[in-house]
Amino acid sequence: MGLLDAGISKHNVVITSVDNVLNWARLSSLWPMGFGLACCAIEMMATNASNYDLERFGIFPRSSPRQSDLMIVAGTVTMKMAERVIRLYEQMPEPRYVLSMGSCSNCGGPYWEHGYHVLKGVDRVIPVDVYVPGCPPRPESLIGGLMKIQELIRMEQIGISRAEALKKLAEKSSDPQQVIERDRQVVRA
Ligand code: SF4
Repeated sequence: MGLLDAGISKHNVVITSVDNVLNWARLSSLWPMGFGLACCAIEMMATNASNYDLERFGIFPRSSPRQSDLMIVAGTVTMKMAERVIRLYEQMPEPRYVLSMGSCSNCGGPYWEHGYHVLKGVDRVIPVDVYVPGCPPRPESLIGGLMKIQELIRMEQIGISRAEALKKLAEKSSDPQQVIERDRQVVRA
C-alpha cells in the first residue's frame, strides 16, 4: 500500500532518516577515478564496457581526482608510481574510498619475492577499504568488491567513524570457509 499504489503524483509521504537518504544518494552514484596501472586495468575497463555495464549501478569513471569518490587501484604499484598514487588520493575530496584490485595491488602479487621495484601492497601508502583477490580478478569479482563498498556506505552514519562502519560490515560478512564447508555438506548429504 502507499507509494506504489497511489503513485508519486498523489502527494505521498516517505519517512526515513537523513542518514538513509544521504547514504542511498552516495552509494547510487559512486564515481571512480579513471586510471589503471597494469593488466588488471584491462579487466576494470571490461567491467565498465557494455557487457557488464557499471552505469546501471550509477558507477562511471571520472577523469579528475577532484570529482571522484572512489579509487580503484588496478595493477602493479611500482615504487615510482606509489608517489603518484598518494598524490591522486590526496586530491580526492572526502568521503573517499579505495578498492584494491588484484594480487599486485593487494600484496605485490607475482613480484612479492623478487620484485625490488614493486610496493608489497598499496595499503602501505594509502588506506584500503575493500580488497578484491585474483590475478587478474574477473569483472564479476570487481562488481562484488564495488557492492562491498556500497554496503560499507550503507553502514555509515553521521557521528560514527569509518573504522566502526568497517567493523559492522565485517560482522555482517560470512566466513568464506564456513560457506564452502556448508555447501560441501549439502553435496555429501
Ligand atoms: S595481479 Fe596479475 S593481472 Fe593484475 S596487475 Fe598483477 S600480474 Fe597483472
